[in-house]
Amino acid sequence: MIASSEELLDRARACMPGGVSSPVRAFGAVDGEPPFLARGVGAKVWDRDGREYVDLVGSWGPMILGHGHPTVLEAVERAMVDGLTFGATCEAEVELAERILCRFPCAERVRFTSSGTEATMSAVRLARGVTGRARIVKFDGCYHGHHDSVLVKGGSGLATFGTPSSAGVPVECTSLTEVLPLDDEEAASQLFADKGEEIALVIIEPMPANAGLLLQRQAFLEHLAKLCKDHGALLMFDEVISGFRVAPGGMTELTGIAPDLVAVGKIVGGGMPVGAFLGPAKIMDQLAPLGPVYHAGTLSGNPLAMAAGCATLDELEKPGTYERLDALGHRLALGWEGALRAANVPGSIARMGSVLWVCLQDGPTPRAFHLVGAEGAEFYGHLHGEVLARGTWMAPSGYEVAFVSTAHDETLIDSAVESFARGLLASRSRSA
Ligand SMILES: *Cc1c(COP(=O)(O)O)cnc(C)c1O
Repeated sequence: MIASSEELLDRARACMPGGVSSPVRAFGAVDGEPPFLARGVGAKVWDRDGREYVDLVGSWGPMILGHGHPTVLEAVERAMVDGLTFGATCEAEVELAERILCRFPCAERVRFTSSGTEATMSAVRLARGVTGRARIVKFDGCYHGHHDSVLVKGGSGLATFGTPSSAGVPVECTSLTEVLPLDDEEAASQLFADKGEEIALVIIEPMPANAGLLLQRQAFLEHLAKLCKDHGALLMFDEVISGFRVAPGGMTELTGIAPDLVAVGKIVGGGMPVGAFLGPAKIMDQLAPLGPVYHAGTLSGNPLAMAAGCATLDELEKPGTYERLDALGHRLALGWEGALRAANVPGSIARMGSVLWVCLQDGPTPRAFHLVGAEGAEFYGHLHGEVLARGTWMAPSGYEVAFVSTAHDETLIDSAVESFARGLLASRSRSA
């Protein structure tokens, strides 16, 4: 007897908190129950009841080539036969390190982890170790994973559940974390004037994409870089989403700013669990075993993950990849904008290449999180199920972005636009 999906969901909830291993997956912020995804090919996914969707989530970013890309599968299969893990440095690890570093000329060394969370966590420790300072600065709406010191005002998962930070994080842990608004030079200058000599690290998503898509001005990012330089603090770009997504060298390449540290993840693991942080030798060589700052990991640099990452980056190197992603993203944005207008729903689309956010509120698309109203996410909560029912898999939170992959094509984009347009009309007439 095959369990029905209702039964499986009951079992999931009986054995895992909320039935999930990561909170937004529980569909707490949207109507309806979460389907179990069973299979993905290219830009399509199927749930275990056989319903087909155009996938605009891409596992929250890593699947930039779509699901089951033959090059990636072959690389993983080859690596798998040789051994799943040895806990020793492997050849693919060196290859992936070199591939990453050649796209981030500001960096000379990379350290692999098993997740983006670990990458930013260890990078914070490294920055403190190198500078001998304790204080760090993050931005309201930016997410850097779920470790204590950055679990303040962190975007989707947190905004979705209305928790400013998490229970179980002692104030002592976050008392060294300063939170600034995005898009505000004045506030940053003020903080540095007050505490500049105590600040070890400024950490920012240069393309904040975890609380909507809050595109920053070049001048703002340059201002931060200058403040850090003037006060001896380190600047870290968290490019776990944007690295190899908006350009091979992420926002570091697009802005021309040279941060002291960069975190990557998601895409560089090709769908396997990976994170990494990188920087100049003089900083990175302070890590154990060369230096006094500790970091380790049983599965860090895992051979399968390294193989998947190398294969993914190789595919992305092919000429025209980013132009194609941008063209598809542009088509989706135009389609969605048209649908909003046709349904007379206030909103706009924020976009950077293949990353898009449906901002369901009046006025200019916000650049800072405090300007993002709650009504948009609330309306999205009703819209989501209508779009899903019409065959497009979108993130189950109005604060999450959509990702286009190289496996999408014009037809699939148009089909995603149609689900959205019809879903809009359905949810508008229901809420009217
Ligand atoms: C996803 C994400 C992380 C955390 O990565 P995990 O692999 O989920 O731990 C960190 N920073 C940013 C910007 C992210 O989007």
